Amino acid sequence: MTDAPNFGFDTLQIHAGARPDPATGARQTPIYQTTAYVFRDAEHAAALFNLQEVGYIYSRLTNPTVAVLQERVATLEGGVGAVACSSGHAAQIMALFPLMGPGLNVVVSTRLYGGSITQFSQTIKRFGWEAKFVDFDDLDAVAAAIDDNTRAVFCESIANPGGYITDLDAVSAVADKAGLPLIVDNTSATPYLCNPIKHGATLVVHSLTKYLTGNGTVTGGIVVDSGKFDWSASDKFPSLSAPEPAYHGLKFHETFGPLAFTFHGIAIGLRDLGMTLNPQAAHYTLMGIETLSLRMERHVENALKIGKWLEDHDAVEAVTYAGLDSSPYKDRATRICPRGSGALFTVALKGGYDSCVKFVDSLEIFSHAANLGDARSLVIHSASTTHRQLTEEQQVAAGAAPNVVRISIGIETADDLIADLDQALTKANA
Ligand SMILES: *Cc1c(COP(=O)(O)O)cnc(C)c1O
Repeated sequence: MTDAPNFGFDTLQIHAGARPDPATGARQTPIYQTTAYVFRDAEHAAALFNLQEVGYIYSRLTNPTVAVLQERVATLEGGVGAVACSSGHAAQIMALFPLMGPGLNVVVSTRLYGGSITQFSQTIKRFGWEAKFVDFDDLDAVAAAIDDNTRAVFCESIANPGGYITDLDAVSAVADKAGLPLIVDNTSATPYLCNPIKHGATLVVHSLTKYLTGNGTVTGGIVVDSGKFDWSASDKFPSLSAPEPAYHGLKFHETFGPLAFTFHGIAIGLRDLGMTLNPQAAHYTLMGIETLSLRMERHVENALKIGKWLEDHDAVEAVTYAGLDSSPYKDRATRICPRGSGALFTVALKGGYDSCVKFVDSLEIFSHAANLGDARSLVIHSASTTHRQLTEEQQVAAGAAPNVVRISIGIETADDLIADLDQALTKANA
């Protein structure tokens, strides 16, 4: 498809990045299940290895099926390029890798996916990186946490597990003022509900595992670059602005301009870290994205109906869904994700921890599983599972207190889901 910025989301989710296969005319994007690609001649090979020509060498770096996925997600997010990777967590490392180094830090929101909190608070320390956790509703605290060694600011658009909405306009203004890129994890919102780049994000990361594939069949991730950050404005980002010894002193930003981050992600990140997405997974994700807008509309419609129903239930203390009139994030949601507040939220039960455990054990349509963004409805008791490694203080800050259950509303018939929740709440209270 030719680039036409005026196409609607529904058209782009089906066509962006794809064209009939040049060899066979195949209308659907083929799964290029190949490791290597034959060079035309030695000169062609040399040009590819020198990054003087764009093409295919080896599938750890680039693959035609994966390339379609990259272009599609980049287009849907309003970015210039994207690098797909083997998981959402891989995408987070791939986003930080060109920016960070020993002794440097990233300022991150306390409201993150539980796995991200562990990745940032524990594992990245092994690289000599540090994460400084702050409440992103407190902009002064975000600004105060930034120091000379900060290289990025990181948050989620619709934050896991509570479905809180981050004020991306305000946070990106703080990052901008400090000359730093804002990285937004847009997994829970998807590009249908929120485009972080429009709100000032430099990079957008996704777990493809969730809504983008949408049916629990893939583990994958992607980093999208807005192409808008000036990596050469300071000496803080030498991986992108200074000569790269592994490519004869090439400077990524000078050579590739707005595509610097994407080229670096492939030519250095995937080449040496190897967190590559495989073509089968890219295929499943492309299939999922074709129906993203339709699914998200139903996810949101169901979440709103079920959120309201839960809020009025006697056994329920609170529901965090930002789409509800009672939510302090209602106004922000209208600005940041105008098509809806997603389908992920938490429910606090009056009966506490024990009631939560009985509740998740009694559900029949909802599965108790460590996933979200699936066509089927899922539930998890975060405090005893995904957020188990955290201290109780971290659990509360992350919206995963012991009396809280996280719910990911699927696209089943809403009344069936309500009936299931009703019978499980009755048992939980018995
Ligand atoms: C699942 C998830 C991740 C991690 O993605 P994986 O594909 O499981 O590695 C990161 N952020 C958010 C918001 C997620 O929901």
